[in-house]
Amino acid sequence: MSDSPSQRRPNTLPRSAPLVALQLLRATMVDLVELFAPPRCVACDEPTAESPAFCLTCRSQLERCDALEERGVLAPYVQHGPLVAAVHRAKFGHRVAPARAMGLLLADALGSLLDEIDVVIPVPLHPSRLRVRTFNQAAELCRALGKPIAFGSLVRRRATAPQATLDREARALNVENAFALRSSKAVRGRRVLLVDDVVTTGATLEAARTAVERGSPATLRCAAVARAVLVANR
Ligand SMILES: [Zn+2]
Repeated sequence: MSDSPSQRRPNTLPRSAPLVALQLLRATMVDLVELFAPPRCVACDEPTAESPAFCLTCRSQLERCDALEERGVLAPYVQHGPLVAAVHRAKFGHRVAPARAMGLLLADALGSLLDEIDVVIPVPLHPSRLRVRTFNQAAELCRALGKPIAFGSLVRRRATAPQATLDREARALNVENAFALRSSKAVRGRRVLLVDDVVTTGATLEAARTAVERGSPATLRCAAVARAVLVANR
């Protein structure tokens, strides 16, 4: 699967500044290199037969969670090893392929559960974060699920501190009322899946779920590719 660079960076960037232009240029260069280079693993750069994908070694290191659903969130994998590398590359390396590969893992793991979903909603980034990241990896991950995506119906109305810097209690406070449903048209009476890349305490997905519930979906489920362990709360 090799998309053109323009297809692979679909989220509209906020208004440009020199730094944003530089980041976008760098991201586009990475895309162009990836487009013409042989496919490589999204976590370790070993050659792969297809793209975007994890190599066989990385796939063998993926660890499944004991239960697919825990605390109301479907999450098939433990966040460690190749998934840590893939998330880091997508978030800070401005690379779309790792997010797409994680989306394919999630699609595989959810299997027939996706038959019960009408529309997926990626947990949105605040525009200020999107400006730095250049794309929302939760949105790219959603593209692999093969379902209609309700872009823009859920918005992040205030910038929040990175959850990774906070403990469990502070995480919940940090994202409280951070999301708003801009339009209920896409969710009313429909079976909705809310998607993020990684779930830790579940505070972000819970805050987003509260906002989506105001649109009266028929059903509302939450999913992430991986479940992380919050060391401070072990
Ligand atoms: Zn690999």
